[in-house]
Amino acid sequence: MTGMFATELDTPVYRGTVSCNTGLFINGKFVEAAEGGTIDVINPATGQLLTKVSAATSKDVDIAVEAARKAYKTSWGLKVPGVQRGEMLMKLANLLEANIDEFAALECLNTGKPWSESRGGDMNLSLKTFKYYAGWADKIHGKTIETNEQKLAYTRHEPYGVVGQIIPWNLPLTMVSWKIAPALATGNVVVLKPSEITPLTALKLAGLINEAGFPPGVVNILPGLGPTAGAAIASHPHIRKIAFTGSTITGRKIQEASAKSNLKVVTLELGGKSPNIIFEDADIEQAIKWAAIGIFSNSGQICVAGSRIFVQEGIYDTFMQGFSRTAKGMSMKTGDPFASGTMHGPVVSQTQFDRVMGYIDSAKADGAEVFVGGERHSLSEGFFIEPTIFADCTPAMKIVQEEVFGPVAAVIKFRTEEEVIEMANDTNYGLGCAVFTENVSRAIRVSNALEAGTAWVNCNISAEHNVPVGGYKESGIGREMGEYAIDTYTQVKAVHINVGLKI
Ligand code: NAD
Repeated sequence: MTGMFATELDTPVYRGTVSCNTGLFINGKFVEAAEGGTIDVINPATGQLLTKVSAATSKDVDIAVEAARKAYKTSWGLKVPGVQRGEMLMKLANLLEANIDEFAALECLNTGKPWSESRGGDMNLSLKTFKYYAGWADKIHGKTIETNEQKLAYTRHEPYGVVGQIIPWNLPLTMVSWKIAPALATGNVVVLKPSEITPLTALKLAGLINEAGFPPGVVNILPGLGPTAGAAIASHPHIRKIAFTGSTITGRKIQEASAKSNLKVVTLELGGKSPNIIFEDADIEQAIKWAAIGIFSNSGQICVAGSRIFVQEGIYDTFMQGFSRTAKGMSMKTGDPFASGTMHGPVVSQTQFDRVMGYIDSAKADGAEVFVGGERHSLSEGFFIEPTIFADCTPAMKIVQEEVFGPVAAVIKFRTEEEVIEMANDTNYGLGCAVFTENVSRAIRVSNALEAGTAWVNCNISAEHNVPVGGYKESGIGREMGEYAIDTYTQVKAVHINVGLKI
């Protein structure tokens, strides 16, 4: 028997119990970790312990991979028609939808993100993702290729088999959906490791897998630490493909481990330092609001956060006044994720808090001007940091070069279009970018010139279930979401059929 986490909430936005199992979900059952270890799960809004979950090690990964291999051979993969896989994914989506408020509340508790972001943003995107890939499951097909009249050639898009998936803590359930929905739609079986910091909604979803009809072993969800459970997934000889989302530094380790073990196919969704460029001909009020959404949503813990804000000199002062008003307004609405009207929650952990405060200190030491914020928020408990704006930053500063992953904007003044393109591309990252201008030619010219996997024009950071996501340069390899993910979860077999050649 494994444990349960359950707590009663009576908040302005959610009333009721939230619960999930705290074991490892392997072969259709919740089990204790083989070595009996556990991980503390903390509420970032209070700093208090919420629960402990089982901590997988390589032994559990081995057991899960074996269960997954068996399921792939006997009751999944090419044995189950796409239409049935789609039905199970749709059933899972419906079960998620029926419990969506509870999922949203559990996510708020574990991540500290405000209810509006969890319920209004993350949960909806997760749900749409499951429904979208449910629809894809019976639409996976190859091509017939004309060669000569004595031969029929065609391609089949086949699953890899066991897929390993490792995800971060910033969008926990959304990342689960982005990973397992396309993998299952295409006939793969999965061993997924949520972040050790935010495992609760993944475990809650695991509790719905059997009811949705998936045979045991098709979906395995194992919380565990990166260097143990994560590394075991990355180097496992029977995992054929790995999909990772997280920091560039860990992505490198995943790729190394994959290369050294069995040359897994690797897709990586990594870090970013996305430029937001605001030209003098932009709708400035709109640009201010979008820039604030870009850097302060989820307390800046978004891979595509617009953390480098380039503002053209003629509007610099006006922009800074409006931007600082918006940041101060958010600061006033910082607090309990469950209070109606909260716009800004804590960062996810003590470690992340220390990391972000370290970057703030480095920017101060480098001579950037603290325009707004720059301190721990006055709330006495929890990991709250004030929405922070640094003015007059220069390209060489650490705050401009490195990913902070917190509510910290670095603003840089620029003069010309050519100059800002040069500065914006002067980074090893290439995840997102945003351009604000009312001039359509400039919008197209500049968004084409920026080295990034996603470009937003007069908007920011929004993702859609049917639009690809991914990075240029050191921000990633491959694409997730939309039709593009189908390719990354299938391998192509070419079949040649002799229809008359005698030798
Ligand atoms: P992280 O790299 O520290 O951890 C991510 C995951 O990798 C966790 O599950 C962790 O346990 C695991 N891990 C850690 N060390 C490992 C190892 N040696 N082997 C295998 N697995 C290991 O990242 P994080 O702090 O959880 O998340 C923040 C990062 O994620 C940021 O850099 C952010 O930009 C990035 N991110 C990217 C995207 C995207 O779509 N590109 C989306 C969300 C987050």
